[in-house]
Amino acid sequence: MICPRCKKTLVVEVKDGEKIDVCRSCGGMWLHRHQLNNLLKESGGDVESCSIDDNPHADPNPVILCRECENTKMKKVNFLDYSDIIMDYCPSCGAFWLDRDELSKMRSYIQKIEDGSHTVTNFSGYSLLTKLSEIAYSIFR
Ligand SMILES: [Zn+2]
Ligand SMILES: [Zn+2]
Repeated sequence: MICPRCKKTLVVEVKDGEKIDVCRSCGGMWLHRHQLNNLLKESGGDVESCSIDDNPHADPNPVILCRECENTKMKKVNFLDYSDIIMDYCPSCGAFWLDRDELSKMRSYIQKIEDGSHTVTNFSGYSLLTKLSEIAYSIFR
């Protein structure tokens, strides 16, 4: 597979038991459906479906085409809706493209939620709590 950002060949690396296509040049990674959930097991929920919405999200990185589904434009989605970690998502095959450091940002975001260090002072904080209860709910479904 070729990197959608810098066109270098992706190499397979094993992270937490998942075989993932990573770009050693730009630090991005290609995740098939379910791989993001598997990498972020500590969230205890379905972070993939909790991140997909129809709102437009601004991102300095250009829109890319899915590497698996020819000519399908990937959508910009906001990780867990309110994190402002914007990733690329293919609505056709469910793949995600993560740019450099996005996975570690996601991990620290989840960590902060668990620590309760996110201040809930505004609407977006309130919605985050709503989202978290949805995630908690999905565990017991
Ligand atoms: Zn790259
Ligand atoms: Zn696709």
